[in-house]
Amino acid sequence: MTAAFPTPPELAGHPYFQYRNNVLYAEDVPLDHLAHGLGTPLYVYSRAALKGAWETYRSAIGQRPVLVCYGMKANSNLAVLKEFARLGAGFDIVSGGELKRALAVGAEPSKIVFSGVGKQAWEMRAALAAQVKCFNVESEAELHRLSDVAEELGVRAPVSLRVNPDVDAQTHPYISTGLKENKFGIAIESALDVYRVAQSLPGLDIVGVDCHIGSQLTDISPYFDALEKLLDLIDALDQEGIRIAHLDLGGGLGIRYTDETPPSPQALLDRVFERLNARGQGHLHLVLEPGRSLVGNAGVLLTTVQYLKHAEARNFAIVDAAMNDLLRPALYEAFHGVQPLRPRAGDQVEYDIVGPVCESADWLARQRKLAIQQGDVLAVESAGAYSMAMASNYNTRARAAEVMVDGANYHVVRQRETLDDLLRGESTLP
Ligand SMILES: *Cc1c(COP(=O)(O)O)cnc(C)c1O
Repeated sequence: MTAAFPTPPELAGHPYFQYRNNVLYAEDVPLDHLAHGLGTPLYVYSRAALKGAWETYRSAIGQRPVLVCYGMKANSNLAVLKEFARLGAGFDIVSGGELKRALAVGAEPSKIVFSGVGKQAWEMRAALAAQVKCFNVESEAELHRLSDVAEELGVRAPVSLRVNPDVDAQTHPYISTGLKENKFGIAIESALDVYRVAQSLPGLDIVGVDCHIGSQLTDISPYFDALEKLLDLIDALDQEGIRIAHLDLGGGLGIRYTDETPPSPQALLDRVFERLNARGQGHLHLVLEPGRSLVGNAGVLLTTVQYLKHAEARNFAIVDAAMNDLLRPALYEAFHGVQPLRPRAGDQVEYDIVGPVCESADWLARQRKLAIQQGDVLAVESAGAYSMAMASNYNTRARAAEVMVDGANYHVVRQRETLDDLLRGESTLP
């Protein structure tokens, strides 16, 4: 008799996570080794996958004037940031905390852009002191505050306005940001007026135009709907003597979670430069702020099956990771592939993969056919972006550890929280 190994499942577009002899590996490290040694839930990232994703941008850019500012809210672990800093990335930050992280890994301030709809004065001061490349300003009120803060410090703040071009990014409503009803940006119709205000303020230097229309875009056309409107605006500004040095198209390129076929950086950039040249704006420098597409498929979340529960309507695999570890399914009904680290022969059963948190929204995947047993370890795929970064301590659950694999080596890049960590800082009344 020959051993009846099942055919290893296909992982959705993750060349750095592959089965060898029926065991799932990250690069050259068998993942069950990490799960058993370090415990679960455990986030595992691949250094080669980060480099590979960066390379898709670098090679697409060639000699063209494009600055890639990693949208670091997707995954702000210092080891991830350091890797991108070493590769020459800039950073798109959305808080004073993210500025601190970027500076901690030696990011070049001249490659940092500061986005976000609610910047506070202390955050502006810190970013001005660091001499960041640009503030992406989202309202007239913010322009006034920024000008005041800059004047106090005796400097001028470089600004772009984040324009809301009112285009439908055709993505999940919670990650669509470029429509009129979103809180983000300045409506395209008022942008010219608000630029005039910016020009009149003593503490500001206008340097760019910015937009970010949404996330997990799998179609390229919304970018071009936005681009034409932004180029019209840049022409109008030019007429008034307001010269724009760079155009920031934000982030948003999607990744493959299951069967999506998102556009490549090459496809995006080729068409953007074609349009810039066709419209006589070839001198513009471009800024991109990709987050998900640089890290999303560079990570998996390992979780152990605690119980199998066969209810009348459903079968449940209750695992040790939960919505506090990976919120995307609860928040966006997001799809993540789930695969066993060691596939078993035998009949597959349809399971909902759920966590121990006391919420019906606490699920990681639904109706997945798996042959699994209690104690098996599963890999939740595509967990490099908006995963650990959104983790919380709900239900007084310690946040997972994070590991970066590098060839046959691995490094713990964030220790598992302890329960003492969770109680620290709290006190009771005397
Ligand atoms: C979140 C965000 C990004 C990154 O978006 P991705 O979809 O992860 O590429 C870029 N710019 C801004 C302003 C953002 O808010």
